[in-house]
Amino acid sequence: MGTGGTLPLVNRWLTSLMVRYRGHSVLIDCGEGTQVAAAKAGMNLKPIDKILLTHLHADHVSGLPGMLLSIGNSGRTEQLSIVGPVGTERVVRALRCIVPNLPFDVQVSEIETEEETMFFLECDIHAFALNHGVPCYGYSFNLPRSGKFDVQRAEQEGIPMRFWKRLQRGETVEDAGRIFTPDMALGPPRKGIKLTYCTDTRPTPTIPRMAAGSDLFICEGMYGTAEMSASSWANRHLLFEEAAQMATDAGGVKELWLTHYSPSMPNPKAYRDIARAIFPNTFTPRDGWCKSINFEDETEPPSASTPTPASEI
Ligand SMILES: [Zn+2]
Ligand SMILES: [Zn+2]
Repeated sequence: MGTGGTLPLVNRWLTSLMVRYRGHSVLIDCGEGTQVAAAKAGMNLKPIDKILLTHLHADHVSGLPGMLLSIGNSGRTEQLSIVGPVGTERVVRALRCIVPNLPFDVQVSEIETEEETMFFLECDIHAFALNHGVPCYGYSFNLPRSGKFDVQRAEQEGIPMRFWKRLQRGETVEDAGRIFTPDMALGPPRKGIKLTYCTDTRPTPTIPRMAAGSDLFICEGMYGTAEMSASSWANRHLLFEEAAQMATDAGGVKELWLTHYSPSMPNPKAYRDIARAIFPNTFTPRDGWCKSINFEDETEPPSASTPTPASEI
């Protein structure tokens, strides 16, 4: 929803992402003003079940109190979970001092290892450690897809038609002493959907490994060129070319979106070709860009309520 790093600008909110699936949402990062960025992008806050924090720098967490209040105002009463690196509990407790009364429970958990997997509906979300000078995590969403239902095989196996749907959903069915398993009627698993999000960091070997095969890889691109900031190393951030190189190294990445632009870079698109020379399908989104990702052979158009991205900056 936002694409800025460090501080919000008049026309650029801080970096954040809303992932929506089957009526539920996961918000990644919540810097100052993220609730405004969400409203501008036309996002409903009530379905946010989980807030994932990459790290505890102000530009990624200082919008939490306002966001939690707004989620409360949206009518949410179900529990919400906040996940982040070690220290998240302390930071959330401190920020909650100014929003003590919410109509829902907030459950906080901290990631303590280099890699950790959590679950969101049928998706698994893999957290992986980045290199930013403080504990910081990227997140990779994987939505698996079972194999195609094979009617001929199901008939050969003598599976009653009334169980087909359940097997297709991956359930095992027991009927009058007979056990039917999904593999009796399904073909090999098909390619699912993968989305990888990664900011703030220097390049690491883990990033390409996690981004491999992503339909969309959203990666920090703080600076267009090394000359723009001699302190890129000191700041522990990425250049466009470094993000593009990791997208290439990953293999199988379909699209790269850069984000977390430095306030010193008013026009990221001016540097886009530097990244495209390395990874051709690179984009420099502006706030509010939205993309629907479907399974490979499903070409469902985005729903009418989906905000359409404006042109690139
Ligand atoms: Zn940042
Ligand atoms: Zn940071």
